[in-house]
Amino acid sequence: MSAPIKYVYEFAEGGREMADLLGGKGAGLAEMTRLGLPVPPGFTVTTEACRAYLETGQEPPELGVEAARALAGLERAMGRGLGAPDDPLLVSVRSGARFSMPGMMETILDIGLNDQSVQGLAKASGQERFAWDSYRRLVQMFGHTVMGVDGDLFEEAIAAHRTARAVADEHDFDADELMALTEEFKRIIRRETGADFPQDPAEQLARAVRAVFDSWNTGRARVYRHREHIPEDLGTAVNVQVMVYGNLGDDSGTGVAFTRDPATGAPGRYGDYLPDAQGEDVVAGVRDALPLSELKTLDPRAYVELGDHLRTLENHYRDLCDVEFTVERGRLWILQTRVGKRTAEAAFRIAHDLRDAGTIDADEALRRVGGAELTRLMFPRFDTASDDVPLAHGVPASPGAAVGAVVFDSATAVRRAADGEAVVLVRRETTPDDLPGMIAAQAVLTSRGGKTSHAAVVARGMGKVCVCGAEALTVEPQERRFTVGADVVVREGDILSVDGTAGTVHLGALPLTASDVAAALETGTGQDVPAGTAGGELTGAVLGALAHADSVRRLEVRANADTPEDAVRARALGAQGIGLCRTEHMFLGERRALVEAMILARDDGAREAALAALLPLQRADFTGILRAMDGLPVTIRLIDPPLHEFLPDRMDLAVRVACAEHPDPRDRELLAAVERMHEQNPMLGLRGVRLGLAVPGLMAMQVRAIAEAVVERRGAGGDPRAEIMIPLVGTVEELRQARAEAERVLAEVAAETGVDGERPSAAGTGGDGGRPSGAGTGADGERPSAAETGVDAERSSAAGATALDLPIGTMIELPRAALTAGRIAEAADFFSFGTNDLTQTTWGLSRDDAEASFFPLYLERGIFPVSPFESIDEEGVGRLVELAVQAAHAVAPDLETGVCGEHGGDPASIHFFHRAGLDYVSCSPFRIPAARLEAGRAALEGPAAADSSK
Ligand code: ADP
Ligand code: MG
Ligand code: MG
Repeated sequence: MSAPIKYVYEFAEGGREMADLLGGKGAGLAEMTRLGLPVPPGFTVTTEACRAYLETGQEPPELGVEAARALAGLERAMGRGLGAPDDPLLVSVRSGARFSMPGMMETILDIGLNDQSVQGLAKASGQERFAWDSYRRLVQMFGHTVMGVDGDLFEEAIAAHRTARAVADEHDFDADELMALTEEFKRIIRRETGADFPQDPAEQLARAVRAVFDSWNTGRARVYRHREHIPEDLGTAVNVQVMVYGNLGDDSGTGVAFTRDPATGAPGRYGDYLPDAQGEDVVAGVRDALPLSELKTLDPRAYVELGDHLRTLENHYRDLCDVEFTVERGRLWILQTRVGKRTAEAAFRIAHDLRDAGTIDADEALRRVGGAELTRLMFPRFDTASDDVPLAHGVPASPGAAVGAVVFDSATAVRRAADGEAVVLVRRETTPDDLPGMIAAQAVLTSRGGKTSHAAVVARGMGKVCVCGAEALTVEPQERRFTVGADVVVREGDILSVDGTAGTVHLGALPLTASDVAAALETGTGQDVPAGTAGGELTGAVLGALAHADSVRRLEVRANADTPEDAVRARALGAQGIGLCRTEHMFLGERRALVEAMILARDDGAREAALAALLPLQRADFTGILRAMDGLPVTIRLIDPPLHEFLPDRMDLAVRVACAEHPDPRDRELLAAVERMHEQNPMLGLRGVRLGLAVPGLMAMQVRAIAEAVVERRGAGGDPRAEIMIPLVGTVEELRQARAEAERVLAEVAAETGVDGERPSAAGTGGDGGRPSGAGTGADGERPSAAETGVDAERSSAAGATALDLPIGTMIELPRAALTAGRIAEAADFFSFGTNDLTQTTWGLSRDDAEASFFPLYLERGIFPVSPFESIDEEGVGRLVELAVQAAHAVAPDLETGVCGEHGGDPASIHFFHRAGLDYVSCSPFRIPAARLEAGRAALEGPAAADSSK
């Protein structure tokens, strides 16, 4: 037999652990009651009762009985009857769901007043004005919330009385005025609803409770829940609580207080106080509240007592708490508490300070901060004091603040940035062609597209400021200008300020504040910022959290970096290697001519000459990166995109050939080549390993450049740890053949340079001799240092420091590769999951096309809870990752696995990769601190950590 359902709990019966049933507010009231804090007594109607009501449209019959019994208990304890004519007991009826929904739901104060009891209250309190003030509040709140009268009608009546009396606010009304106002409110109710304000206190109470239940389903509450991902079916609890009065005169008042500053996290009480007022007045801003410190002079005893309670609560909840309180004639009452919301800055600071004080341990401090918050702290921001009116609003797609000169195309952005100018790239929308300009710019601004547009996604990945979809802008790149409305024209070179956090655009340069956190992380020294300053405390807190994350995480964090400059930055930010070094850019710029020559070559000789010219250039690139990452692994991906991406645009060429009187023969040739190479679907075409196998000499040139760079670095006394990564493999046979060629080149270089490499026995023959077999690649409990994890560390020690047997591995970015990972592992020294392409190929969609067309619809309809390109789709793409890791480890237990691509910097995805057993994640340099932090948090995850991240 299960116990009968209980719908009503007295405060003394509940506790914080019952928040599902009692709501957040009810659980807090119960917990404070349990702690012995001065909480006006009351009881809570459970969320279960609300759910029953919402399902059937009727209160469960037991509820009436239980509520009546609880009320009788209250009346006995207080020695007064609800709404009794001579000395009435009044209560508040307060909504309170599991998750706080500020301003969404209803609360009604002063239930129990009617035409008689208002007289009783006046007599008992000795204050007529107070009694009528309370009554008019009840009629107003009840009329609006329970009886559905438009709240503006009451406000208009108040305004009319204010004007008539020539007073600033209703606080200056006397008792007669308030009495007249109450009567007028009652008339408004009758006129609007055809019914009278109910005089029966029991009816008032029952209808108020029902109105709170109903408020769960108002439109604004639904919208709020949707946005905050709060489930629809939780329902709200209702708290019925004895009224205390802050509006009894100057020795009374009401306020809110925080145990620390929720904006900065600085220790010390913080809050607002409003004398002679009821709770709602503080939030409504009827009058300007005083800083809490004023209470010290107004009522020193209450102030000291409040301080004690704040301390009790913070120690008890071991976190920042906020409270609502009321002082009634010098007596302090606490009306609400919860673990308070805070800014990113405050989150780090508070966690750090509580850890310092021994209130929480280092693990718990780490659980309370997040990677997304850390990233936010790394952006520069505009001075908050500035009240400049924005030129336009758009989607705040990538946070931060930037100032620069307006440019309208990628090439101009690159050119002006190279001259040392800060630029803002303004486009209707961006495409992959704009990438160089986006990299060069301080900020990207588009007039079209949302949070998942190309501009938004790419900018976020780079940590670049971006506002997109600023629809007020008419962008005219040809005219080199954009306009806003009829009379604002902004031309190339004009200065613009872009606030990616707020989503606003401003004309001219707003004052910028650099991020202390970013500076401290990049220099690796929080000590540079003087301790004792706000910046110093914050950076100390961030560095402390990161240090602990580093000490507990199992996942390594590497960087996606293609240039020595990026590599240096990544290393400073804590990268333990490069997980993805793309080589595409090594074919661009001035080298395009060589690529064209290679493609147009009529014979082997011409092609070899072009490749030979590329070789020293690429070798220099690799040397630079290996120097920057000396001692750490650098995973170099051989060329991946289709070759025509390195040729001129087909349309441009066709026009040039068609329009010229005497077309350049070279243009004709190029056009023919471009047309030959044109693909309907380049993403699924001749790219990746296919390209390496199909274009003679291309892969060999790249491998040779890498090998010679390694030899050069060793010659210079360095410790280069290059790894060769083959993209887009679908079958082990592709990898075998590519590997055979790579190993042939490595052997050649070894022979030429006198580096004698013991060739791995399995070169291209399908054995597993190419794989390292020792332990220490990171999958075991003790986290090896970065220097030990390079798989070649072991080999070079086994085969002599001069061996050129660089690890050769593959990307896993096709479903077939994941499904046959056991076979592919036979020929691979490592796997790197290319989860961007893997997501595209698993879902069968092209990211750029999808994000520009149906993604917004899918997100809105909830078909995607979040974009699978932002956070890994665990069920589908993630399943393939798990399968591949398991299959690979079944044949090669030490095969190193990692992930490169945007997911490597996404908090939720990092937690997944940790669970899936990968060895490392690799992400853009800017995201490395966040990734380190989240990898640490992932390592802490366990049953105990279930809800502590809130
Ligand atoms: P919200 O969730 O919107 O904050 P509350 O239920 O907390 O709504 O109530 C609104 C205001 O009324 C708060 O300032 C609260 O402190 C005050 N209040 C609620 N119940 C009482 C009471 N029994 N006595 C005095 N003030 C109260
Ligand atoms: Mg409240
Ligand atoms: Mg790819």
